[in-house]
Amino acid sequence: MSSSGSVPDDAAPGAPLTDDRAMELALVEAAEAVGHGDVPVGAVALVDGRVIASRHNERERTGDPTAHAEVLALADAAVVVGSWRLGEVTLVVTLEPCPMCAGALVAARLGRVVFGAADPKAGACGSLYNLCADPRLNHEVPVTAGVRADEAAALLTRFFGDRRADA
Ligand SMILES: [Zn+2]
Repeated sequence: MSSSGSVPDDAAPGAPLTDDRAMELALVEAAEAVGHGDVPVGAVALVDGRVIASRHNERERTGDPTAHAEVLALADAAVVVGSWRLGEVTLVVTLEPCPMCAGALVAARLGRVVFGAADPKAGACGSLYNLCADPRLNHEVPVTAGVRADEAAALLTRFFGDRRADA
């Protein structure tokens, strides 16, 4: 590793990941889902900018209707944190969470959620609902939307386009 210069480098080993870099990892994770015929959605959980869990959609692989990337990543993160309370955790997910997943984020008292592409058909963090910012619920989750949204959307478009071509 070069010691020349003092230019900040957010890709330096050990440096906390920015939202953008974390989303890059979530996109790589999402692509893994395609290998078993699942819709490419990926999620990484971070504490202090460091990854503690990384999962992708496994609904087809497992036959479990709740096996969305977010739910799986939250469960893994809870094991690492040692509690169901995930107030220190940021979840970075490639697609806007659905009602089930947004509900799980609230139930986990999540610290923050970052998503890529908006989901006008099922999104529950601003598109159809905003479960993360509903004062009637017992917890609100700060949302950052649209990080590398084009890449996340392209992954999905390619997946559904290829499926149509196969049909
Ligand atoms: Zn979901």
